[in-house]
Amino acid sequence: MARVFNFSAGPAALPEPVLAQVRDELLDWHGSGMSVMEMSHRGKEFMAIQAEAEADLRSLMGIPDNYRVLFLQGGATLQFAMVPLNLMPVGASADYVVTGSWSKKAVAEAKRYGTVKVAASSAETNFNRIPGQDELTLDPQAAYVHITSNNTIFGTEYHYTPDTGAVPLVADASSNILSRPVDVGRYGLIYAGAQKNIGPAGLTLVIVREDLIGRCRGGAPTLLDYAIHAENDSAYNTPPTFAIYVAGLVFKHLLAQGGLAAVEQANVDKAQLLYDVLDRSGFYSCPTELASRSRMNVPFTLADADLDATFLAESKQAGLVQLKGHRSVGGMRASIYNAMPRAGVQALVEFMIDFERRHG
Ligand SMILES: *Cc1c(COP(=O)(O)O)cnc(C)c1O
Repeated sequence: MARVFNFSAGPAALPEPVLAQVRDELLDWHGSGMSVMEMSHRGKEFMAIQAEAEADLRSLMGIPDNYRVLFLQGGATLQFAMVPLNLMPVGASADYVVTGSWSKKAVAEAKRYGTVKVAASSAETNFNRIPGQDELTLDPQAAYVHITSNNTIFGTEYHYTPDTGAVPLVADASSNILSRPVDVGRYGLIYAGAQKNIGPAGLTLVIVREDLIGRCRGGAPTLLDYAIHAENDSAYNTPPTFAIYVAGLVFKHLLAQGGLAAVEQANVDKAQLLYDVLDRSGFYSCPTELASRSRMNVPFTLADADLDATFLAESKQAGLVQLKGHRSVGGMRASIYNAMPRAGVQALVEFMIDFERRHG
């Protein structure tokens, strides 16, 4: 068996020890004689799996008691609609900070339900930076302020938590959740599709302050009401059981690594390794502003774009896969989420230095 180093933006690499445990437990989970995939979501085994996953996530992120954890489906994309449906009263407005393609999609969806005010945007510089607090035009009457905490495509990340006063802060944290400690109490709601830093696709995590639940506007589908999910412990209908189980193993794995402070240190170190190579010569370059750089997604270009295809072919040959950049940015992108080991980044860096020596 030869596992590659997978730099995919998502679905992305999972921690190998977690995959090994899933394999070991696949046919017979803890003597139950069945796979987690085959269990009733209302049986005591699965309910224990879900409760443990939630408890571990709460301890990992330090989630305060007045927040609910919801295990949903529909991806981050469905949250683009659920957030305004639940948090924006009819006739109200919300502030959105536009920092890339996912923010733009969130704005487009919210506009179907009310007025969107753009609090700031980095479109002018092709989303290569995160606007600072002093650049945000915030409306104290807004229903909420929405940010994208890490921009998966453009490779930028918030390194501060916006101060929104009494207005709830909502974050799409799909691509950097669990990569660093976060003060959950500063947020009204945090959501994330699982397939980047949590577990298998199909699960969407929502962490929401209790007072924001129960405000869903009339006429919305039952399944899009946070209150329905909160009242039913995420089992109003069948939740993505297997994905919840795997996510629970990932939470345990991160706790065993020392929690999010230790995870952050490892991520800072991995990202630095890669950015150092991008900055040391003119052969590679990185389009993002220094202070806004993401630790999770690192876009870069070669000075000679004619070498792109060769770079991708040779890196794949070396067991380094999924490095092609997103079409809206071009060049390459290395996604180095939690599950990318330091050895993977080290291998990429060594390949890049060698590639430059041979083609530079
Ligand atoms: C991947 C991604 C999405 C879309 O997630 P889905 O689960 O496919 O709906 C939204 N926002 C961000 C920041 C992402 O990285």
